[in-house]
Amino acid sequence: MIRQSKSSISSLEIKLTTNVLKREFLGMGQEVQEFELAIQKFIGTKKNVICVNSGTAALHLALLALNIKCGDDILVPSITYVASIQAIKAVGANPIFCDVGKDNVFIDIIDLQKKITKKTRAIMPVHYAGDSSNMKLIYQFAKENNIKVIEDAAHSFGSFYRGKRVGFFGDAICFSFDGIKNITSGEGGAVVMRKNKSASFIKDARLLGVINDSKKRYTNNRSYTFDVKHIGFRYHMSNINAAIGLAQLSRFETFSIKRKSIVKNYIKHLSSLKGIRLLNLEWDNMVAHIFPVRVLNNKRDQLKNFLLKKNIQTGFHYMPNHKLSFFKTKKIASLPNCEVLSKELITLPLHNDLTIKNQKYIIENIINFLNDYN
Ligand SMILES: *Cc1c(COP(=O)(O)O)cnc(C)c1O
Repeated sequence: MIRQSKSSISSLEIKLTTNVLKREFLGMGQEVQEFELAIQKFIGTKKNVICVNSGTAALHLALLALNIKCGDDILVPSITYVASIQAIKAVGANPIFCDVGKDNVFIDIIDLQKKITKKTRAIMPVHYAGDSSNMKLIYQFAKENNIKVIEDAAHSFGSFYRGKRVGFFGDAICFSFDGIKNITSGEGGAVVMRKNKSASFIKDARLLGVINDSKKRYTNNRSYTFDVKHIGFRYHMSNINAAIGLAQLSRFETFSIKRKSIVKNYIKHLSSLKGIRLLNLEWDNMVAHIFPVRVLNNKRDQLKNFLLKKNIQTGFHYMPNHKLSFFKTKKIASLPNCEVLSKELITLPLHNDLTIKNQKYIIENIINFLNDYN
């Protein structure tokens, strides 16, 4: 089976995690601090980088740090991973589902204008597939309306925006390092936070709110006498996970070259085909996390099954969240582009170990399918 996505683990990840295991200091310590500094350097930022144990935890803590509370409304695209929505729910806020652009699956600016009310406190744009080229409009919109921005950058680690790595610009940028993201730490995530006060909140909140425990742990110590001044969780990253992350980050350039060449090849062979439409993203600036395409004429599920019979696994990113039982409310008006995309989107295989031969086989089968069915 050709997998749609997978982790890519070398001897380096094994070596660095083995070192942690042998040192017998598995919790949060030296490696976590090293990973945070390495991410900071990679992005080229002086902003705070705080590692946590998932991208969802990163979003949750970023919302808390920006003082998002029960009853606040947060604008969010309906097509995103359920993690974005559950993070909003976790602080007791209301996700206000917005439509997305049909050709970029990015939160729709015109719909934002319609959905904003006095209760709106923030917007959570998602860098779908890794594209953040419309973030300028988001910050402009946020400024005009005096609301906060929490970027779900789970797909865009290592991508470029205005000539800098994602995370360089912006106030609160959340990354995920789960098993299949652009880099993985096994499970994990990070918040890049502009304001020092908010960053300091997150550093404590990831360790049950224990004041300054982060600093202690970096020197392989911990706090036995301490104070707690606000809510906290067990959201910190372990040295084992950080070791995997450090190895992956040092391999990033190889990953980037590989992902870019796969994307380029898909675009070259698929862009002129009738029956499918590629998304209009700024691919050249991206290290794409996924390669979704739109299958027209109601043929998506047929293509998916056809490819599966040829041992090619595909994905679907994502079901519109406003349709899920827990998030559904009577008030939600239809989101026309989300409706269309939920029937059209299919994600083709894209990962670091996809061979040229296998990609050729995928492309041939898509062409065969379209020839037979059109
Ligand atoms: C992966 C992902 C997350 C959450 O990250 P986890 O590390 O899996 O918790 C959030 N948003 C999007 C869009 C994602 O793809």
